[in-house]
Amino acid sequence: MPELPEVEVTRLSFADRIAGARIEAVSMGKPLRWPLGCKTQQLEGQCVLGVRRRGKYLLIDLNGGLLLMHLGMSGSVSFGAGLPASGKHDHFEMVTSLGTLRLNDPRRFGAVVYASGESDPIAHKLLGRLGVEPLSEAFDATEFHQALKRRQTAIKQVLLGGEAVVGVGNIYASEVLFLAGIRPTTKASRISKPRAALLHRAIQEVLTQAVTKGGSTLRDFSNAQGEAGHFQLDAMVYDRAGLPCRVCTTLIKGMRQGQRSTFYCARCQKP
Ligand SMILES: [Zn+2]
Repeated sequence: MPELPEVEVTRLSFADRIAGARIEAVSMGKPLRWPLGCKTQQLEGQCVLGVRRRGKYLLIDLNGGLLLMHLGMSGSVSFGAGLPASGKHDHFEMVTSLGTLRLNDPRRFGAVVYASGESDPIAHKLLGRLGVEPLSEAFDATEFHQALKRRQTAIKQVLLGGEAVVGVGNIYASEVLFLAGIRPTTKASRISKPRAALLHRAIQEVLTQAVTKGGSTLRDFSNAQGEAGHFQLDAMVYDRAGLPCRVCTTLIKGMRQGQRSTFYCARCQKP
């Protein structure tokens, strides 16, 4: 599943190239998770001003509104002139003066949704509850600790919940908790201020490193220029149950937490 770094890598791979493009034609394939919310003709003739990211949403700013794009479980974006003919898993295609933007999504949990602006009810519904961006100045260690203190659930669940901080998905949650030395089952409210500061720094480090490396939680992840990422090769604990810890050689444990797989080192990570 694409996580925040993959979405950011996707954004970086086409944002500059599509800025200033004029939309010439838009076509939809099979239904995605949510409907587009406008007639495709309403988009034609509009200009793309730029591409931002909020959580795992790409926000494509137009002169008359914005498109919210989500990659769902299996979505990937291509952008360029002279893309191959669209295939059966291409469910959104936008031809512009600078190239064609395409969403390929075999499982169709992704979506492209039009909103008139960020105060549009649909934009508010999708973006309104998202927590602070981990790679922004607004992500503050003290406020993060306060947010953890208010929550009685396991720290891994809190990270996945996206309200204390947005965009730390299942793979990176295991990785950041390893780096911070915190057991995934530790109750969030019990984490001390110094440990919360370690976790805060680990979140920034792991996500920044993943973006720098091109991001990859999907083995077949590629950015909008078709280049593959390599993050998964370097995982410290994720998907390594039964293998020796890279730090202390204790065997990594795997468990289920809220129906998601969790991995940790019982020696390096304290409750
Ligand atoms: Zn260890």
